[in-house]
Amino acid sequence: MALSETASESNASIHSTFASRYVRVSLPRFKMPTNSIPKEAAYQIINDELMLDGNPRLNLASFVTTWMEPECDKLIMASINKNYVDMDEYPVTTELQNRCVNMIAHLFNAPLGESEAAVGVGTVGSSEAIMLAGLAFKRQWQNKRKAEGKPYDKPNIVTGANVQVCWEKFARYFEVELKEVKLRDGYYVMDPVKAVELVDENTICVAAILGSTLNGEFEDVKHLNDLLTKKNQETGWDTPIHVDAASGGFIAPFLYPELEWDFRLPLVKSINVSGHKYGLVYAGIGWVIWRSKDDLPDELIFHINYLGADQPTFTLNFSKGSSQVIAQYYQLIRLGYEASLMEIT
Ligand SMILES: *Cc1c(COP(=O)(O)O)cnc(C)c1O
Repeated sequence: MALSETASESNASIHSTFASRYVRVSLPRFKMPTNSIPKEAAYQIINDELMLDGNPRLNLASFVTTWMEPECDKLIMASINKNYVDMDEYPVTTELQNRCVNMIAHLFNAPLGESEAAVGVGTVGSSEAIMLAGLAFKRQWQNKRKAEGKPYDKPNIVTGANVQVCWEKFARYFEVELKEVKLRDGYYVMDPVKAVELVDENTICVAAILGSTLNGEFEDVKHLNDLLTKKNQETGWDTPIHVDAASGGFIAPFLYPELEWDFRLPLVKSINVSGHKYGLVYAGIGWVIWRSKDDLPDELIFHINYLGADQPTFTLNFSKGSSQVIAQYYQLIRLGYEASLMEIT
């Protein structure tokens, strides 16, 4: 009796993860292994390898949020298994995204009535938001050119040479010529005068950046709006503006409320912002807001009904997680205008 007990105690080492055969063979890198392994071993192996990653809390690069309050972490974990796209199954999550769109649109001074729903959508980040905004401009321009009986096969877009790579992606993926305003010594953002000079009848929009990726500087959107208004009057075109406010969209409304860069300027038709930058949510959320329904061509919106009722969608992907949308709503109602100001000063 005593003997067999001793034997089973000494057997305990076999059940130790580190002493098990699963961690003694080299890890598969190219082909899925033939045999399965216990969950404890899988966890330990992956956890240990991940220790070689950097520590997100020490990572200030890419300006992305790496800490949220434990209450919000709880909401995130509780919704990690909700597919965002299934709006019929998760109508409250859809409602929270709509509230975020409304709040952000108001923050950007969209011309909306007190209880009028804003036009916008949650995305994976500013990059997806910019693809959608760019597509709306391209389609809008094509429709206008077609109606006028003019060629619509050579669209271009005007930006500064300081743009984030997503604008280059948009141009290449969706076949729009990118016309970049060169930077010059001592001036590292898009010069509005030069930008307007590059505008021609094939320009689908001018994209300004609020918070240049290179140095954080805001471009002068008001000056751009004024110059472009004048050019539009002279030429009969109606070239619009998009503001890439990936980083500045959650800074300017709090720190510089008087600065006119948003929908207060008539030519600004759409704005994107990254929820995971100064929206203070973990990576995986962005927003694009349109000035009004008229600025988002109907034919880009798909109506699907295979998950239940009719659902309008305008995104590049289909399924995605819900957690980031819920976390964004948490930050907006938790901080409010007053604490958002404190968080960023
Ligand atoms: C970060 C950034 C982007 C890309 O945003 P993601 O949310 O990472 O896709 C685009 N434009 C500017 C100006 C940025 O700072």
